[in-house]
Amino acid sequence: MRFDDTKTAYSLRTDRELYKAYFLFKIFSKQFLVYIGGKLALLVIRLGLPFDSLFRHTVFYQFCAADNQKDSLKKVNSLSKLNVNSYLHYASEGQKTERGMDESLKRVLETLTISKLNDSLPFAVFKSTAFGPVELFEKKTRGEKLIGEDLSAWSRAIERITQCCEFAIKVNVRLLIDAEESWLQDAIDEVALELMQRYNIGKQPIIFNTIQMYRKDRLSYLKKIIHKSKKEGFQIGIKLVRGAYLEKENEKAVKMGYSSPICNSKKATDKNFNAGLDLILSKLNQCELFLGSHNEESTLRVIDWMNKKQIPVNHSRIWFSQLYGMADHISFNLAAAGYQVIKYVPYGPIKEVVPYLIRRAEENTSVKGQTPRELNLIKKELVRRGKLG
Ligand SMILES: Cc1cc2nc3c(=O)[nH]c(=O)nc-3n(C[C@H](O)[C@H](O)[C@H](O)COP(=O)(O)OP(=O)(O)OC[C@H]3O[C@@H](n4cnc5c(N)ncnc54)[C@H](O)[C@@H]3O)c2cc1C
Repeated sequence: MRFDDTKTAYSLRTDRELYKAYFLFKIFSKQFLVYIGGKLALLVIRLGLPFDSLFRHTVFYQFCAADNQKDSLKKVNSLSKLNVNSYLHYASEGQKTERGMDESLKRVLETLTISKLNDSLPFAVFKSTAFGPVELFEKKTRGEKLIGEDLSAWSRAIERITQCCEFAIKVNVRLLIDAEESWLQDAIDEVALELMQRYNIGKQPIIFNTIQMYRKDRLSYLKKIIHKSKKEGFQIGIKLVRGAYLEKENEKAVKMGYSSPICNSKKATDKNFNAGLDLILSKLNQCELFLGSHNEESTLRVIDWMNKKQIPVNHSRIWFSQLYGMADHISFNLAAAGYQVIKYVPYGPIKEVVPYLIRRAEENTSVKGQTPRELNLIKKELVRRGKLG
């Protein structure tokens, strides 16, 4: 399997779009520009200044499908023609009011409804903290007993999550639960486990929890839930990722004076990730794997395993997933070879998705090797098309 077929990787991108992507990833290779750009974008929003056009035609269309669902579905359909599935997400973050949380619920239910009608949308997703106050996830993770208004607010959060899951079961669309910071995650895991015990009792898991293998304790956690699922007879859906909050986690650990929960090096994270991957692959009768990674070696590890076991490339229990606008060389080449590929496709009004876009820009700057790889591939394709000397 090769990922450097840029003709396949960028077949949906026009010359103009590729130029823009090239320019954008060049900016991402300069950390200070990303830092300044992020601060500037937030300031411009706060001051209510018009910034729509510049943002729309640079960062926004690279990482988001559109600002509304109808136009996003057109992108989903184009991806689908190349055997690439999608999962849509209204990417507005940080809902703090009860009204905002109800709005988040409405969006997820809407996404589930359209996913039901479209075979190329086999998953939907939610972030638990979009449905309940962050402080309560933190208190629960600390082991605090909730009382009074906290308890009522927590019940409402659980009610929203349950409503999503019941609807996902009804429409038979798999539902991913994102992983968040370690100081919130125990509460999320507890809820996710209960949901899997309750709803993943058919042949195919519907509820998927996310496991971040940059955490030192995740391999033993994974073993624990796999053991539990066998004992109790439920299926587990696992989105396996390395983890997105590296700097934040390490900074908080230093500030609060506890030992960081994160592996001490990238190498240690990779080792942990591979061990998790191997474990899930060896238990495919109990687990369904959703590999959320832009790492070629991790992807090849799964492909090699599938080859060795002589299982079909489109095995129903193995999904490869990348973010919209990133790692297209992996997504489109895998899809062309027949593997089950699914892109995370965010959408939403520009102003609301800015925090998501800033995170993407920062990730591209900080994840070593990612931006040079994207840049080289885009450059290769522009040269192949005779558009760059
Ligand atoms: C479809 C999809 C869904 C995702 N969902 C989530 C989610 O729900 N929650 C979440 O947290 N993340 C999520 N992510 C992001 C993911 O966790 C990674 O941050 C991102 O994909 C980069 O990792 P990689 O495997 O693609 O690439 P790589 O470049 O191989 O790995 C980079 C990652 O390695 C780890 N790392 C880097 N340096 C070090 C170091 N010095 N010490 C220890 N570890 C290090 C970090 O996790 C870093 O993000 C998702 C990613 C995708 C593609």
